[in-house]
Amino acid sequence: MIEIMSPAQMPRARAAGALVGHVLQTLRERVDVGTNLLEIDDWARSMIDRAGAVSCYVDYAPSFGRGPFGHHVCTAVNDAVLHGLPHDRTLADGDLLTLDLAVTLDGIAADSAISFVVGTARPPGSVRLIAATERALAAGIAAARPGARVGDLSHAIGTVLQDEGYPVNLEFGGHGIGTTMHQDPHVANAGRPGRGYRLRPGLLLALEPWAMVDTDELVTDADGWTLRSATGCRTAHSEHTIAITTDGAEVLTLPPGARA
Ligand code: MG
Ligand code: MG
Repeated sequence: MIEIMSPAQMPRARAAGALVGHVLQTLRERVDVGTNLLEIDDWARSMIDRAGAVSCYVDYAPSFGRGPFGHHVCTAVNDAVLHGLPHDRTLADGDLLTLDLAVTLDGIAADSAISFVVGTARPPGSVRLIAATERALAAGIAAARPGARVGDLSHAIGTVLQDEGYPVNLEFGGHGIGTTMHQDPHVANAGRPGRGYRLRPGLLLALEPWAMVDTDELVTDADGWTLRSATGCRTAHSEHTIAITTDGAEVLTLPPGARA
């Protein structure tokens, strides 16, 4: 299913996006060496509850997971990248943490992910990997406008990742979003320009380039949810929900300070 937001729905989409951006920024500011992943989940839960929103993950039970997920935010450390199940783990200086959050507020969903290094260490390989997924996301957003095709966005994202030498996994990527978290079209993290669904105003997309240093293969953790790099290498993930507007794209999940 592909949903197109009506102009009347857009303020709700903006509010959902702003909440996700705010919660992720707040979590990023609070996380430090010694923080436990279960604390992060708890902080997320209380902020989402206070806002009158619902995490899309709590009851999430797709065929590939050991569902329902039962937590409010995905927390993935180092070699973990997608669907990271919060568990009893304390973060150390230099850990690479990915937080992925999707909520529904007033009937509209928004989805965003950030990766960052915990503490004061700055492992060069991790910093470079994170920067590449952020630049790939920016390239995908820059390619998003009415009349562009999904393949144009995939191509823009994949070009950045591949130019950096990172293999691209085509199994998990971006997606349409609206009254539910995951909708068509699928937005692969590499692809051919000029192909696929033609974008039009009111379409909401979650673009989410993610990468692993030296493999495109994932393995599922014993927890039944967390996906890790098959080689144990580090991973990173950058995601925003955007709205296609009449003349381009509006990023809905920016943190408050980054909004114009
Ligand atoms: Mg997400
Ligand atoms: Mg997503």
